Amino acid sequence: MHGLVCLLATFSTIGAVPPASHATSHPHAIVETPDEAAQKLLERAEARAREGRFADARAEYEKLAAKYPDTPAGREAAERSRPSAFLGWADVVRHGPSSNRVDVVLMGDGYELGHMDAFAKLAADVPPLFERQSTFREYYEYFNFLRADLVSKDSGVDGFGREYDTALGGKTLGTFAGHVGIERKLVFDVLAKIPDSDGQAIVFVKNGVLGTGGSGIATIGGREVKTVIHEFGHSFGRLSDEYDAQQSHDAGPARDGINVAANEDPQKVPWAHWIAVKHPGVGVYEGALGRVRGAWRPTSTGCVMSSDERFCVVCREALVLAIYARVDPIDSESPPAPETREFLELGREPLTLSIKVLKPATHALEVKWWVLRDELPSEAERAPTGRSRSAGERGKPRARANDRTQRGPLGEITAKPRASTRTTAGGGHEFVLSREALEPGRYRIVVRAKDTTELRGEKFPWVLKDELGLLESERVWWIEVPAAR
Ligand SMILES: [Zn+2]
Repeated sequence: MHGLVCLLATFSTIGAVPPASHATSHPHAIVETPDEAAQKLLERAEARAREGRFADARAEYEKLAAKYPDTPAGREAAERSRPSAFLGWADVVRHGPSSNRVDVVLMGDGYELGHMDAFAKLAADVPPLFERQSTFREYYEYFNFLRADLVSKDSGVDGFGREYDTALGGKTLGTFAGHVGIERKLVFDVLAKIPDSDGQAIVFVKNGVLGTGGSGIATIGGREVKTVIHEFGHSFGRLSDEYDAQQSHDAGPARDGINVAANEDPQKVPWAHWIAVKHPGVGVYEGALGRVRGAWRPTSTGCVMSSDERFCVVCREALVLAIYARVDPIDSESPPAPETREFLELGREPLTLSIKVLKPATHALEVKWWVLRDELPSEAERAPTGRSRSAGERGKPRARANDRTQRGPLGEITAKPRASTRTTAGGGHEFVLSREALEPGRYRIVVRAKDTTELRGEKFPWVLKDELGLLESERVWWIEVPAAR
């Protein structure tokens, strides 16, 4: 029903705009389909939201929905024109590509169009909370913070027999204090609209109280930013409460978690490895999971998961592993490392191989290079490489973006490394190969980057047990040195 749309600019070089019927046969014509035209308008409206011009974005979605109702973008715009809707998203703090960072998406529920500026301001206050907390400060570079702009028709919170029309269905839960909750499916629907997100959201419910967290969603009542890190501990780190104050009637039986136990045997609690190394302050202490009796926690010294500002070592270890479950210590490499055994010929000019690694705040990753004869690799060395899936594989279905947990630890290389390199200011590591230094033949050049989690002045590493080998990654290049002529 819509005619083809021609871009006038296409014809500006010939000085005239030919009639539309000629456009499709013109060799240089760029012909825009209604789908494409609508998609452009959708992107333009999203850009308005990104700039914080929410009312303008709203108006553009309405116009688009009316003009191109039968296109995918037009249908999306119609959804975004509803009284409660997703209007777009924006970066709040970006440290790197979403494909290799933990993307935390901040959302607001119960923010009416006229109050969305207040949400944008609140969202901007969140990254500094992470930057100030000692565990997240060390790994701040590993995170991006994004804002999903959601408009709500009403500002209320469902409960006590009243229902409101809000973007994420904010509601009051049946706890003693009436903790705030949301409709999880609605949050995941929003996350699905943001490219390469990691399934992690922090939701602020305007008129809710207290906070809840679990399985990727931290929900915060009002502006209680002091609860953000605690709830994120639940939602991102899968950590449990280390306090003993009862929150509701239906607590159910106590179960082992990462930082809580339903038994008091120091060899069987989930943090037994910290007890085995005699870390001061770690033991088995009764009182956790909102119970005075029958549940145990690891520390006497406190934790964010009780009411302290710092995480205990058990929780901190879990958080670092959760970060590396999504972030590859190697951010990029040059030249691109091939997926399969393809040889690069080493010519007269030396070849520089380089990688960029992630940068914790106060310690550097360990980087080692090996030059190995390309004989048949041993079983261990044939283990899958440490890269996360590349951008080119994005179309494939997967459980979660950037999942490194399925890869397994790297095999041991028994040969001595040829070099250990230090990070330059830009996070780069280089290794130069020259023909003079190598016999003719075929080689594998292996580089591995590892976060030892050993910080200066600390007696114990932050991670004691890394069964999945998440702290380490590698890249491999195959090189052929031709016989001298
Ligand atoms: Zn803890």
